[in-house]
Amino acid sequence: MAEENMACPQCGNPQLDVDAENSVVFCKKCGFAVRVDPATGNVTPIQTGGPAAQAPAVYHEKSILGMDPLTFWMGGTAVILLATIFGFFRAFGDEITTFGTLEILLTALWLLKK
Ligand SMILES: [Zn+2]
Repeated sequence: MAEENMACPQCGNPQLDVDAENSVVFCKKCGFAVRVDPATGNVTPIQTGGPAAQAPAVYHEKSILGMDPLTFWMGGTAVILLATIFGFFRAFGDEITTFGTLEILLTALWLLKK
């Protein structure tokens, strides 16, 4: 077999198992598996194994609406401030209270994410 010298790139296990029927090379130790195209020799990862690899990157991302939390906070503050200056909050009663409430919510969001 061509895969005889192939060690697992995930855990280093030198004895990778081969599922010849499905053209899959896999590691019993860590669950790493790749599909090898017999015609082209292209290798397609199926499962990389390990808890870190399974969690999508988005869960580690610290961002609010795709922005850096501090940028979001500063942008949000600017928007609230402008809205207050232009009188957009008059409909809600006391403008300063509305400004304060929104600013507290914004800061709380930032503190949760930063
Ligand atoms: Zn492995």
